[in-house]
Amino acid sequence: MKFQRVQNRQLNTAAMPAELFRKMLIVAILGFSAIWGIDFSSGLISPFDASAYPICISAFILVYILSIVTKINHQSLHFFVYFIVAGYLISSSIWHHMDANGLFSNAAQWLGLNYVIAYLFLEVKKAAPTTIIVFIVTIVGHYIAIIQYHSIADTVGVVLNIAIAHLIYIFLLWTVIKLRVKTDQIMERADLLENHAYVDLLTRVLNRRGIEKVFNELDLDSKENNKKYAILIIDIDHFKQVNDIHGHLVGDKVLSSLAGQLSRTVHPNDVLSRWGGEEFVVLTMNRTPQQVITLAENLRAAVSNLVIDNISNITVSIGIGHSYEASSKEAVFKIADSHLYIAKQSGRNTIHASNT
Ligand code: GH3
Ligand code: MG
Ligand code: MG
Repeated sequence: MKFQRVQNRQLNTAAMPAELFRKMLIVAILGFSAIWGIDFSSGLISPFDASAYPICISAFILVYILSIVTKINHQSLHFFVYFIVAGYLISSSIWHHMDANGLFSNAAQWLGLNYVIAYLFLEVKKAAPTTIIVFIVTIVGHYIAIIQYHSIADTVGVVLNIAIAHLIYIFLLWTVIKLRVKTDQIMERADLLENHAYVDLLTRVLNRRGIEKVFNELDLDSKENNKKYAILIIDIDHFKQVNDIHGHLVGDKVLSSLAGQLSRTVHPNDVLSRWGGEEFVVLTMNRTPQQVITLAENLRAAVSNLVIDNISNITVSIGIGHSYEASSKEAVFKIADSHLYIAKQSGRNTIHASNT
C-alpha cells in the first residue's frame, strides 16, 4: 500500500462536484414545478411567471441532460444555471414592481438567493464579481421600474432598502467564505507539515517515522487480523567507501538515486522507507515466500544495474523476515536483520531469508 500522501486541499475555489450539481438541478426542477403547480391551481399565477416557470424548468432539464451526455465544461453549465436563476429572480421582482403589475410582490424576498447561489455554484473568484454585477443590475433595474410611477423620494426609499439588505447579504456571505478559505489554507499547511514529518528530504521516500505510522495504522500485530506480510531490510554494501572515495555529496546522490530505483521496482502496494543512514525497509503484504524472494531479487538486481556519476559497482544486501515466523513485527524485524547479517557474511550483493 502506498503511503497516503495527503493531497493538497484545493482552496475553496473549487466548483461543486458533478453529482451534487445534478442533485441541485433536480431540486430546482422539482421546486420550480411545485411552485408552478401551486400558483397555477390557485389561479394566482402572474403572466410573467406563467411564461418564466416553464422556461426555467426546461432550461434546468436541458442542463441536466447536457451534464450527462456531453463533455461541456461544468463551470459553463454552472454559470448558465446561475444566469437562469438570477435572471428569473431579478426580472420577476422588477416586473412585479412595475405599477401596472402591482406594487409589492413576493418575488423581492427571494432576491437574496442570488448571492447565496452564486457562492454555492461558482468558484469564489468568480462568485465575488458576479455578486457585484447582480447587485448593480438588481438595484438599477428596480430603480428604473419604480421611478416610472413614483416620486424620486419614494423610489430612492424602496431601492435604498433593497440595497442595504443586499449589501448585508453579500458582506455576510463574503465573511463566511473568507473564513472557509482561511480554514482550508490552515488545513493545507497542516497537511504539508505532516507530509514533511513523514518523508525523508534527501530520498523523498518515507522516513522511519513514516513507515512506523503505516505499521501502526495496519495494526500488524493484531491477532484477529492475522496479517500476512514480510519485511525486507536493504543495506547498501560498503557505502562508507563511496563516501570515503567520492565524498559525501556523491554519497547523497547515490542514496537518492538508489531510493528512486527501489521505489520504481517495488509494487505500488509495497511500502518503501529509508530506515536510517544507508538502510531501507520494504513492507510487503500478502505475498508468498517465493514472491517475496522474487521481489527482493528484483530490488537487488535493479540496484546492481545502477550507474551513478560513473560509479557502477553499487550493490545491496537484503534480509527478509516473514510474519509467520514470529508473533510481533519487532520479532519479524529481528529475523530480517539476522538474515541481512548472513547476507553480508556471504559476500554481500545477495539476499537471504529462512530456508533459502
Ligand atoms: P556494509 O557493507 O557492511 O554495510 O558497509 P557500509 O560501509 O555500508 O556500512 P557502515 O555502517 O560501516 O557505513 C555506513 C555509512 O553510511 C557510514 C555513513 O557515513 C554513511 N551514511 C549514512 N547516512 C548517510 C547520508 O545521509 N549521506 C551520506 N553521504 N552517507 C551516509
Ligand atoms: Mg548499515
Ligand atoms: Mg551498508
